Parts: sequence; C-alpha cells; structure tokens
Amino acid sequence: MTTTTVFVSGANGFIAQHTVQQLLQSGYKVIGSVRSAEKGEKLKKVLNSDKFSYVIIPNIADVGAFDKVLKENKDITVFLHIASPFRFNIESTEKDILIPAIEGTRNVLTSIKENAPQITRVVVTSSDAAARENDDKNPNLTLDENSWNNATYDEAKKDPVSAYLGSKGLAEKLAWNFVKTEKVNFKLATVLPSYTFGPQIADELVLADLNSSSKVFEEILTSTPESVGLYTHNGSFIDVRDAAKAHILAFEKEDAVNKRLLLSSGRFTSQTIRDILVKKFPQLKGKIFEGVPGEDVEEIKQMPKLDYSQTEKVLGIKYRPLEVSSVDAVSQLLRVRGQ
Ligand code: NDP
Repeated sequence: MTTTTVFVSGANGFIAQHTVQQLLQSGYKVIGSVRSAEKGEKLKKVLNSDKFSYVIIPNIADVGAFDKVLKENKDITVFLHIASPFRFNIESTEKDILIPAIEGTRNVLTSIKENAPQITRVVVTSSDAAARENDDKNPNLTLDENSWNNATYDEAKKDPVSAYLGSKGLAEKLAWNFVKTEKVNFKLATVLPSYTFGPQIADELVLADLNSSSKVFEEILTSTPESVGLYTHNGSFIDVRDAAKAHILAFEKEDAVNKRLLLSSGRFTSQTIRDILVKKFPQLKGKIFEGVPGEDVEEIKQMPKLDYSQTEKVLGIKYRPLEVSSVDAVSQLLRVRGQ
C-alpha cells in the first residue's frame, strides 16, 4: 500500500474527478483544490473516501495561491496540475483564460520550488491544442510529440477559442522552460489529451452547464438542420478514463519523465458521433439531426496524420474506442436529463 499523497488542482473538473477516483482506488491519498466549499463537499460525498480531502483555491491566478497548502502538507510528493480554464462564455480572453492558464502554471511551479522540495514528480495537463501546427487541413502533415502550437500571446487574446488553444501551448512552454532554467527537485511530464469524452464519475456531477468537451454530446442531441453548422467538431478524441490513467502513469513511470504524452484514440467528426448514436440509441432515430451517414470518412482523410507512438510506448494503454465513450456519456446524459 502506497503512502504517497498526490495533490490534484481543479479536482472537481471532468478529467480531474476521474483521476482522483482512480488515485484513491490505487491506494493514494489525495488532496484536491476546488473553487468553493460547495464543490468540495459535493465531490467528497461522491468519492466517499477518508483518503480524500480538499482545499479551496478560488483562483489559481492569484500569486501564492498554492503556498498555504504546500507549506502545511509536507506529505505531498506528487503534484498534478489539471486546473485550467476551459469555458468559452467569458468576458475577457486575458482575465478569464490566458492569465489563469499561464500564471496558474507559474504559481504551481514556483510554490513547489519554494515550499515543497519533497515533491519529486509534477504532471501538467496541456492539450493536443498545444501540439497543433495551425494547419488542420493538411493531410501531408504528421503531428507527433515534437509538434508545437506557436501562437503568440497577442494572437491568442483575439477571441475565446484562440485564447483557449493558445493558452495551452503558452502554459506548457512555461512549464518546460521553468524546469530548464530553475533549480528544482522535481521531474516534469505533460499530458496532452485530445477531445476528452465519456461519463462523469457520478450522475450527481452532471452539471447544468457541462464541461466543454461533454457539451459536444449535448449539442449533437439537440442540434437541428438549422443550428448544426454552429456546432461542428472534429479532431481526435480520448476517453476520460484513459486520460485519467495517463495522468497517473505520467508520474508513476520512470519512462514518462521529461515526456510530452499525447493522447488520441483516433480521429472523429460530429458525424462519426451521430452515426454511433443513431446505431446505439434507436429511440433517438428521427429525433436528432442525423446528417449524412459516413460523411466523416473523407473529412478525416484530409486531416493531418498523427504519430503518437512514443507516448503509446511509454503508457502501454489500450485506449477505449469512440463508441464506448459516446455510449457511456450519452446514456448518462439521457438518464440524468430524463430523456
Ligand atoms: P473542466 O472545466 O471540467 O475542469 C477545469 C477545472 O479547472 C475545474 O475544476 C475548474 O473549476 C478549474 N479552474 C478553471 N479555471 C480556474 C481558475 N481560474 N482558478 C481555479 N480553478 C480553475 O475541464 P476539463 O476537465 O475538461 O479540463 C481539465 C484540463 O484538461 C484542462 O487543463 C484542460 O485544458 C485540459 N484538456 C481538456 C480536454 C477536454 O476535451 N476536456 C482536452 C484537452 C485538454 P470550476 O469547476 O470551479 O470552474
């Protein structure tokens, strides 16, 4: 039985709640940060484990936000920084996305350096957005663990989507630069999930305002021929349970040190999901916009190729397919929303 205590920032978030649950199942003690007591209590109730506790950190962008918890808990030896803004209904691209993503990462790393020399492993959650070379329709391009999104801060601040995509590359670069230029005791790995799909860990955690990647299913369930153009998604995907497992392997495995771990189970478009839903949920037939079955095949051929074999070698995870993630996410949504 392990005695390691793992700190998880943004513990109530979609990916983090699965990570915390899996950590507890593996015997780790977990301290998570959330933004309010209400969120902490809700999560604590669902997790139902005396090995989980939480602290309240209202804004990761506040200088010194992590100092108190790291000064008071010298048993923490692993830090998973998963919290980052991933919402688009915002007022300011800088205040609401770029600053918390970038300064939050700086605050975590600075606080570990100054207050927690016993921490030996740090995992920062980035995104495949940080490895996107701004050429989404180039089938001759191959993206791998060395690919970078090189958007500048000024380019990123122009609209919410650019801010989110840019924030991930800028925050991840800051983290790698920090370990290169500062004298630190810890080893870093970054995890770069793609669109992350699947269920919440409990029905009680299905929010009215879903996290951005779970919203994809809500949009597909409610879109009409008129609205569908507003919500087209395409890219690559990973199941949330596999993304959570990757965060744990990222600190457990020696081979993961200094690695960017890019997660993809495959390519998809909204049509790929529509085709799965019509097949697996006969009651939705005629009720959702069904599009043109199989239309995704050509679109996927035009996307850049992915070669994440270095990551696959390190992690050795057999990723869940889209059908499993979609069916589990949508079954839960239909159950909770009474459809
Ligand atoms: P969620 O929105 O579910 O979780 C984000 C977490 O970060 C929440 O706990 C949120 O708190 C917290 N948070 C956001 N901004 C702040 C802030 N300023 N101060 C304190 N806490 C904050 O998103 P996901 O679980 O999907 O995302 C988790 C991580 O994974 C992020 O780094 C995201 O960029 C990355 N990622 C996600 C992908 C996906 O498809 N889901 C794909 C690629 C990367 P609260 O709930 O209170 O708002």
